Amino acid sequence: MKINFKVLGGGTEIGANSYLISFNDVNVVLDAGLHPRARGVSSFPDYDSIKNLNIEHLIISHAHTDHLGALPYFLKFFPSAKIYSTKPTLSFAEVMLSNTTKILKQEFELEFDKSTISNYKEETLDIIPMIMKRYDYNEKVFLNEKISFEFFDAGHILGSASVLINAGGKKIFYTGDINLRNQSLIPKADLPGHKIDILITESTNCATEDYPDYKNEMTRLASFINRVINKGGSVLIPSFALGKAQELLMRVHTLMRKNEIPHVPVYYSPMSKAINDIYDDYNYTVNRIKRGFKLSEIEINILKRMDYYKGDFYKHPSIIIATSGMMMPRTASYILARQFLPRANFGIAVCGYCDPETPGYLIKNSKPYETLYFNMYDQGVEAKCEIGNFRFSSHSRKEELEGMIEHLNPETIIIVHGDEIAINSLGSHTVKKYPDKRIIAPDKGKVYKLS
Ligand SMILES: [Zn+2]
Ligand SMILES: [Zn+2]
Repeated sequence: MKINFKVLGGGTEIGANSYLISFNDVNVVLDAGLHPRARGVSSFPDYDSIKNLNIEHLIISHAHTDHLGALPYFLKFFPSAKIYSTKPTLSFAEVMLSNTTKILKQEFELEFDKSTISNYKEETLDIIPMIMKRYDYNEKVFLNEKISFEFFDAGHILGSASVLINAGGKKIFYTGDINLRNQSLIPKADLPGHKIDILITESTNCATEDYPDYKNEMTRLASFINRVINKGGSVLIPSFALGKAQELLMRVHTLMRKNEIPHVPVYYSPMSKAINDIYDDYNYTVNRIKRGFKLSEIEINILKRMDYYKGDFYKHPSIIIATSGMMMPRTASYILARQFLPRANFGIAVCGYCDPETPGYLIKNSKPYETLYFNMYDQGVEAKCEIGNFRFSSHSRKEELEGMIEHLNPETIIIVHGDEIAINSLGSHTVKKYPDKRIIAPDKGKVYKLS
């Protein structure tokens, strides 16, 4: 069987992740992501270059925007393709895509050709849950008599999946976003128990050799929160709405339950709350660290717009978990950060990656009392509050991916979903250890013959 691979987006970057893999004349697209920071048409995968192919299948690994956000755009090109995901991913699709639509509309309203986003409309969003086919982990799905696939739990967020494709006896494993460590809600990934032929792996965290472990970060976070609260201030924790917010809420709850931090009010974004409810719907049916535990058991206050300037947390020490993670302009975490920065007794705990072009990056790397300017018209705001940096990534560490490669022992390894440093770092280690294996850091748009 002839197998070809082509990156449509998100090869040597974390962006509009989408890959074409062809088995003779059967074309399967893996993921349809939207670049979270690119603008206009360049934030979408390059479906124009494959529009004359017969694309019959799209497999979505999980519901993060960089894997799902371009689905309406994909449907513009391939309206009759079959779409496959796990059940929780389907449940998240509605919340995530309607949020993406809101953001795209604001952006395209101002400067871009609106026909690009013509499919981001209610009619399409309503149809998507009806046309998506949903499956359990390890349920066999046949694309034809020779090609089948199954989802494996990827341990990244609720419903996240790796994909094992069996094409005429050849086994291809696409990791999606994968975490080989237990988080606070979601247990670590489940891998196939046998050798595979072709591995397509993410490499998000591979730029850092000694990535801190969760336990260490929990201790640091607890002392940060204690320091700020003892000064009478509140702590802002900027967070992505899906996955990260739930894990961080659980971590804060665990610290309170163990009396490692005081029992102060917790504020939480409405969108993250909507996602909590979906987590709770699957508290028995999908594998969890604490089976049956519901996030609704944790007492939270929903963060309202009027709280941004006048919330009780300006008077009483509190913890605010607010979107977005990178403090993008106009979001709750950005507006709150601007209010927190000049208050010396307050704190901002940055708990994840921030792209260099975001306000989050500026805040994370600021020096005490530095004046920060977030755009060219900005009058500036002084960074007097305490700023902490923590790493609670939901991706595997480099050494864990190396362990996975050893376990799966593939002949061909394709490294994607990382910046160039990360891809080179995992690639050069693998080349040294396995000189006989074929290792590919694929260029966008180039077709790689895999067999
Ligand atoms: Zn993800
Ligand atoms: Zn991703």
